[in-house]
Amino acid sequence: MAKKITVEEAIERFGEVMKIVAEAIFVQIERPGAQWIADEYEYYHCSACGYEHLESEYKTAYCPRCGCKMEEET
Ligand SMILES: [Zn+2]
Repeated sequence: MAKKITVEEAIERFGEVMKIVAEAIFVQIERPGAQWIADEYEYYHCSACGYEHLESEYKTAYCPRCGCKMEEET
């Protein structure tokens, strides 16, 4: 049987979880990020180091040259 907790305890625990989640997101924001920038032929360039993919319309999650994590364009 699961131990019953009060609403106050539930809120407190939820707050702890949210703090962990917020810290995890903050760590991701702190990491150096870059973006793939498409040229007129749809070849993507790394915004951090200028690496260019050899195939058009091809993107990877990380830059193969500088290792930057690529953020999706919004
Ligand atoms: Zn790069």
